[in-house]
Amino acid sequence: MKVIVIANQKGGVGKTTTALNLGAALASKNKKILLIDLDPQANLSSGVGFTSNFLKEKWDENEKPPYKSIYDILINNEKVSKVFVPTDTENLFLLPSHLSLAGAEVEMVNMLSRETILKQALSKFNEKMDYIIIDCPPSLGLLTVNALTSSDKLIVPIQCEYFALEGLGQLMQTMQIVKSINPNLSLGGVILTMYDSRTKLSENVVSDVRGYFGDTVFKTVVPRNVRLSEAPSHGQTILQYDSKSSGARAYKRLADEFIKRLM
Ligand code: ADP
Ligand code: MG
Repeated sequence: MKVIVIANQKGGVGKTTTALNLGAALASKNKKILLIDLDPQANLSSGVGFTSNFLKEKWDENEKPPYKSIYDILINNEKVSKVFVPTDTENLFLLPSHLSLAGAEVEMVNMLSRETILKQALSKFNEKMDYIIIDCPPSLGLLTVNALTSSDKLIVPIQCEYFALEGLGQLMQTMQIVKSINPNLSLGGVILTMYDSRTKLSENVVSDVRGYFGDTVFKTVVPRNVRLSEAPSHGQTILQYDSKSSGARAYKRLADEFIKRLM
């Protein structure tokens, strides 16, 4: 079982879209996948159709959340096996997030071994999965550090936009620091997302990123495809929503490349 973290402290670069649809594409190739939603925004959880109405503002902070989530694992010592749920997609499972996770970083600060809470929880998880894929919030805080500490491979999505490489030095530095706690961790790959073939800019970003990261960049480039942005509002993966779309085809190719590289 390999643990993969999808991180980039920039928001809107395609982390959640990649976790969701790479996960679904791997599941369609008979890999058993556990998705972990480590973002308080819980976009991954609603993206696979997990009770998104629980996640809306109605929830009162003083009330107990209506379901168990990654928050309970990090803060209340709950077992992963008691929290994970199946999704509508065969072989695809989810550890859901919840808005309450927004306060978790503050609550974790005084905890013992606060950088390895997730790692410890996963080490007690006996269910056989091929891959665990962790979706991170857009920061390099304690949640992302917990994800990095738990993982074998870091995957970095980069949006084909201005300032694409901005902040990546910081992310690589954080990876190096985490290596002192988790020597297993290495860069598994960089994924170029939201490529727009009509613009020169996208082309320039691709060559800049390939120049900087070389062969660690996946050959498959994910195009800008409106179907990819529509699918989550239906609680569906791109394979369920429009399996013929350019987005679906890209994530299936990416899954093939991923299996070849990381297995
Ligand atoms: P992050 O998790 O890094 O913040 P998201 O995956 O949520 O980024 O993507 C940001 C926004 O861009 C979302 O609205 C998402 O639906 C959209 N998006 C992501 N990838 C694509 C794509 N390849 N084509 C079109 N829209 C995309
Ligand atoms: Mg996200």
